[in-house]
Amino acid sequence: MKLTEHISNAKSTLFSFEVLPPLKGENIQNLFDSIDPLMEFKPPFIDVTYHRQEYMYKQRGNGLLEKIATRKRPGTVGICAAIKNRYNVDAVPHIICGGFTREETENALIDLHFLGIDNVLVLRGDSIKSEPNFIPEKGGHNYATELLEQVRCMNTGIYLDEDLLNTYPTNFCIGVAAYPEKHFEAPNLKTDIKYLKKKVEMGAEYIVTQMFFDNQKYYDFVKTCRQEGINVPIIPGLKPITTKKQITVLPSIFHIDIPEDLADAIEQCKNNDEAKKVGVDWGIQQSKDLIEFGVPCLHYYSMGKSESVYNIAKALF
Ligand code: FAD
Repeated sequence: MKLTEHISNAKSTLFSFEVLPPLKGENIQNLFDSIDPLMEFKPPFIDVTYHRQEYMYKQRGNGLLEKIATRKRPGTVGICAAIKNRYNVDAVPHIICGGFTREETENALIDLHFLGIDNVLVLRGDSIKSEPNFIPEKGGHNYATELLEQVRCMNTGIYLDEDLLNTYPTNFCIGVAAYPEKHFEAPNLKTDIKYLKKKVEMGAEYIVTQMFFDNQKYYDFVKTCRQEGINVPIIPGLKPITTKKQITVLPSIFHIDIPEDLADAIEQCKNNDEAKKVGVDWGIQQSKDLIEFGVPCLHYYSMGKSESVYNIAKALF
């Protein structure tokens, strides 16, 4: 079912979460073990992230370094199929521009369509670690808007080869990402929201936000989006803090602020178990406040560890 239908059919705030594909070589059972407990809260959909190829250097016998391309977390499409099959809920694959030609994207979308996947979260993807800026694949997309246009075309039966006859249209519900604290490359929030509006005008039917820890930032962001004429659901993304280190690691990776109260509380924790407890308490308060505000869904970033998300959901759903 389309994510927008889940939202319009819902009688109360929905619960959903995002999982990462297991590291290459790991058993999928580890992923199921992290999802199983969360099924108690009846998520209508589960997001599966996509991780592009990276480069690493391996020392060879002759002392020389060999550059090797590897995908540490392959399997997004297969995991979506496995989730649908095992839990009978909608799986939402993330699809990205980075590392894909248009042709490869088309083939991936065909696979997803054949598997009965109804939703896709369309993203640009980050640059690979060895590159300072995002560089698209030759024949690939520069921005999420361009990838979105490709999905939209397939939804109207337009494939890359215009000579194809009697093409069957796909019917993906398209989601996109947004950043209440601004995407780190955007010159300012207004410009970032201008491009977000473009994504919605081009066919995005819902938005999922980057994690944030201060709800006021989300409320201000939603207000500005509505003033700018963005009227699709804006689903808040939440990440419970689980280690002491995260109060510096998360801002550096995701370009978000940790409020002073939360940072102080985590700093005073003697160990990660205490930090985890603070993270859960903060997550419960944040979630309660967002439910009161009337958000359509609370979307949690589990990052492969579901215990804190479980403890938050247990207090709310
Ligand atoms: P875009 O919308 O393309 O925006 C990128 C930047 O370019 C922004 O600064 C924007 O203001 C600007 N911009 C947009 N359009 C234009 C235009 N036409 N002309 C000029 N400037 C423009 N990454 C992964 O690799 N895999 C994942 O699974 C994944 N999941 C994510 C899920 C969520 C909910 C979020 C919030 C992020 C996720 N990311 C993921 C990270 C994301 O790929 C990065 O944040 C990336 O840097 C930006 O992606 P985007 O889709 O927002 O890009």
